[in-house]
Amino acid sequence: MKRMFVLTLALGLSFQSQAQIATATPTKAEMTKIQTKTQPRVIILATGGTIAGAGESATKAAYKAGQVPIDALLNAVPEMHQLAKIEGEQVANIGSQDMNIETWLKLSKRINQIFDNNEADAVVVTHGTDTLEETAYFLSLTIRSNKPVVLVGAMRPSTAMSQDGNRNLLDAVMVASAPQSKNIGTVVVMNELVFAARDVTKTNTTSTATFQSRNFGPLGLIYDGKVNYYYQSTHQPTKKFNVDKLDKLPQVDIVYGYADASPKAIECMIADGAKGLVYAGLGNGNFNAPVGAALEKAAKSGIAVVRSARAGSGRVTLNNEVNDAAMGFAVADDLNPQKARVLLMLSLTGTNDIKVIQDIFFKY
Ligand code: GLU
Repeated sequence: MKRMFVLTLALGLSFQSQAQIATATPTKAEMTKIQTKTQPRVIILATGGTIAGAGESATKAAYKAGQVPIDALLNAVPEMHQLAKIEGEQVANIGSQDMNIETWLKLSKRINQIFDNNEADAVVVTHGTDTLEETAYFLSLTIRSNKPVVLVGAMRPSTAMSQDGNRNLLDAVMVASAPQSKNIGTVVVMNELVFAARDVTKTNTTSTATFQSRNFGPLGLIYDGKVNYYYQSTHQPTKKFNVDKLDKLPQVDIVYGYADASPKAIECMIADGAKGLVYAGLGNGNFNAPVGAALEKAAKSGIAVVRSARAGSGRVTLNNEVNDAAMGFAVADDLNPQKARVLLMLSLTGTNDIKVIQDIFFKY
């Protein structure tokens, strides 16, 4: 900024000597005016989580998520105000284990409104880490703009020694306002890494290095206050899902596969009104005979059944070990069960055709 101000002076006051120009320092008011004009505008939408958590002491692990309001978060990291003109809004203040479809819709509608009205150049969403990946994927499928939407959280509460929230928040604002992030869309920033919303997952219950993209790695690395991107996913929704007029989504439940599993859970979910089932299968999405029969019956009665895997990485492949065509199933490709549920709920807002749903799962 200071350099730009000196340049402005140099152009406007060319009769001045170099020495005079170099010592000209903008007043605070002039500086604010320049910054306001040139800084990217970032809106932080706060939803709670550990990044807003408070504990009893700096060394104890026990804490309560969603205690610190947005104003305190904004003041906690003064450095981020040098990167962007920041405003904050409190959307929720919950642990992300309580995240729900109502809040997803609220977030998505607000972010679309922000970009439609040109209220900001980028959005940062602070979030608990438990369901952060699901919210990120939901937003990546429903936000129409490709402007940066950066989700960020923390594994240690704000009161802990070596807390990671402040650093992560600063990195998130940096990524959101970096020129090279201009069309990056929805990403997750944690632990000096940038991940695609589609690929990232929480892999460890307590480690600060919990977020990983097991199949493809991070999109970018953060070091010394800068982000370097290395990859871009070829899986980009050809058409974003429009949730503007929705206040709920079709019910989709997840069935977990295990040795000697019974089909009872499937029957309960169907009785409860499920319109879709994601099966978190064994190995390459496999099931035992009773579970397979219950899933096939569901598929043939018009419930969308998508096979995914509980393994944690790799793809579930179509028509290999399982005859998906005959049984009426689609496969989740490399989406984990919780991400497959998000995509299936959104797909079911437009179609019940399992072939169309399969096409969406291969492309999005
Ligand atoms: N379970 C809480 C949540 O997801 C705390 C975990 C966290 O934020 O890391 O909000």
